[in-house]
This record gives sequence, C-alpha cells and structure tokens, in this order.
Amino acid sequence: MVKLWLPVRIITLLGIVAVCAYSFTVPSSSWANEALKKNVKPTVSQTSEDMRSLWNKASQAAARGQQKECATFFELALKACPPADKSNLCTLHKNLGLTYAERREFQLSLNHYQEAYFLDDQDPESIYNIAASNLNLGKLGLALQWYNKYLQDFPAGKDSARARQMVATLSDAQQSKEAQSTDYLDESDQNTLARWQANKMPIHVYIEPGDKIPGYRKELRQFISDAFNAWAAASGGAVAWQLVDRPIEDGINVQWVQNPEELSNFQAPGRSATGMEQGHAKTETEYIGGKLYIFRCNVQIATYKEGTVMPNETIKATCFHEIGHALGISGHSTNINDTMNSYCPSTGLSNRDKATIKRLYQSPGN
Ligand SMILES: [Zn+2]
Repeated sequence: MVKLWLPVRIITLLGIVAVCAYSFTVPSSSWANEALKKNVKPTVSQTSEDMRSLWNKASQAAARGQQKECATFFELALKACPPADKSNLCTLHKNLGLTYAERREFQLSLNHYQEAYFLDDQDPESIYNIAASNLNLGKLGLALQWYNKYLQDFPAGKDSARARQMVATLSDAQQSKEAQSTDYLDESDQNTLARWQANKMPIHVYIEPGDKIPGYRKELRQFISDAFNAWAAASGGAVAWQLVDRPIEDGINVQWVQNPEELSNFQAPGRSATGMEQGHAKTETEYIGGKLYIFRCNVQIATYKEGTVMPNETIKATCFHEIGHALGISGHSTNINDTMNSYCPSTGLSNRDKATIKRLYQSPGN
C-alpha cells in the first residue's frame, strides 16, 4: 500500500504548486486604481476597505513565506468581505485553499476550494484543486471523480495534461485497492452502524402513487421493487420486505417528487452540483439493547432534474442507491461501479454492494 501511495502524493503536490501561480490575485477591478476611492459606490462599505488592507497584508506575508500569518489575514479578509461580493469571496477562498495546502492542512484546503466552487462552479482551478486536495487526504476515489470532472468540463484546460496523468495513475491504484477490499462498509464517514432489527422483518414498505407528479410514469414503481429484491437477495436472507397499501409509522415510505428542490436534504442553490439531489433517504434510529436500529425511513425520488424529465436508467439507479441507504448503508462508495457511489450509481448491485449489505447485517453493531 505504501509503495502505491507515495508517488501519487508527490505528483499531487506538484499539481497544487503548478496551480498556485495564478492564485494570488489582488482584490478585483473595483479597486484597480486609487481614483475609485474618491468615488466610492454606496455598496462599498468601510468593511471592504478593511478587506483590501487585510488582503494586502496576507499577500505580503505570503511573499515573505509566512504562510501562517498569511492564512490569518486571509481569514480576516474573508470576514470583512461583503457577502454580495461573490467574485472576491471566491478568490479569497481559493487563496486560503492554496495557503492551507502549502501548510499541508489539506482538509482546510479542501473546504475552501469547495466554498470557492459553490460560488463559481465554472472555475477550473477550484475543480482541479478539489481533486488534488482529496488526493492528498487519501480520498482516492473522490480525487479520481474530480479529475474526471475537470477533464469533462475543461478538456483543453491549462492543467488537462496533468489531470489525464492523474486519472491514469488513480485508475490503476483504484483497481489494485479494489482487488484488496471486497466491501466499502469501512469507507463510510459515519462511525455508527444502524440497520433494521431482525424481528422487524419483513420490513413494511409503502410506495406512494405518483400519478399526480409530473414526470412520473407507472414503470417507476417497479424500480423500487427491483431495488428491494436485489438488496434483500444480496443480504443472504437477513433482509426481507413486504408491500403495504397505506403510509406506515414503522417502515419505509417511498414518495415521488418533481423537483430536486423538494427533497428534504436540499440545502442551497449551487450545492446541487454534487449530484446528491436526485433522491434522498431520511432514516430515523433508536437504541435498543445498546445497539442502533432504524425504525422508520422516508425515501424521496425526483422525476425531474434541471427542468428535464429524468430517464428511466437514472431513476432506477437512484432507487437502488436510496434503498441501500434506507436499509442502513449510511456512507458512500468511492468506486463509480458501485450503486452506493454518490455521483453515478449503477442500476444493479456490484459484488462490493452485495458484500457490504451482507456484512452490515452480519456485523455485531454498536
Ligand atoms: Zn447517497
């Protein structure tokens, strides 16, 4: 494993350094010359002046190689930046991302590049550095996805040659890693395991009629059944389910919604680009005998995305993914071939999906 990782990290660091050349920009054109100061627009407050001064101090600290001081000034500049000034907010986040990367604080670096991406999802530098930060954090699958996204959005981008090289290296590394790991239960960010109690089997499942939902068609209902059947079969007999004809308090309710915005996990516009918005599973859990069990789950599946009816394949993949959550797989796989991958779930269960549900229901729990 160590042999595998080492060269990858070195290449990545070079990647970040390569990108930094155009990262330290000065506050944007509204302060391009001194004359503007005499003609301050009403929206430019005293706070913004503070921001400019703090930004300059940060840049000077960076020029002296004092990265810690630099980060402190950029954080203060961020606080002083007017919320409506999205362009400067974005640049500040990118500068902080770079500064923390140079200090090898890659989680902080990632957080700031993600904020920059939410402010401007067309910025190639943010996308490239989200990939690079993930790689430095050892999140190989996520890094691969973001390098791929960079290449998809900017095939002739400044860093496309490096991104292609990284995709090749990471794909090889991922294949070796998968050869060693048969499931992804441990990849979950959650450290608590929850599932349905054995005496709740078969789990009662209610699927709402979707007739009044635009974009709904009757074959979609079958996808939910297909998903339950596949997961149940993979569980080796631990999971069983049964359709019921009215909403239930202690089972799984499935609902169709037209817009991703209606999904209960929807956070804010601009954050939908993570690909999480096509479906949602909200599980409710309780401790019984010191172990955590799911007693209720509401699943929502969207029929539309960005004004377009979603194709059957996408909805089917979403159903498989969300039912996986409903049964207790709380995390995500980083492998794009698994149904529990959050970016491109597949319409059937991979061997790793099957092994994961099996192990979830076999493990002692906590
Ligand atoms: Zn998910």
